[in-house]
Amino acid sequence: MIDTIYRCEICGEESQNPVRWIVIHCNSSQLTVYKWTKEAADTYGARHYCGEAHAQVYISRWLEAACS
Ligand SMILES: [Zn+2]
Repeated sequence: MIDTIYRCEICGEESQNPVRWIVIHCNSSQLTVYKWTKEAADTYGARHYCGEAHAQVYISRWLEAACS
């Protein structure tokens, strides 16, 4: 069995066993934030962030895009 390597979308940090990372699922009208679980992280289209700060970077971008 090959471990999945997760990569933070903002800074590029990689981890095979993320702890306290954040998972975001979103579409154009809804964004959902999850504390890290393998189930949430492995869902198709899930986005991965190494911590709250980088999740917030993405959330801000998403909000701006949604309003433009
Ligand atoms: Zn990061």
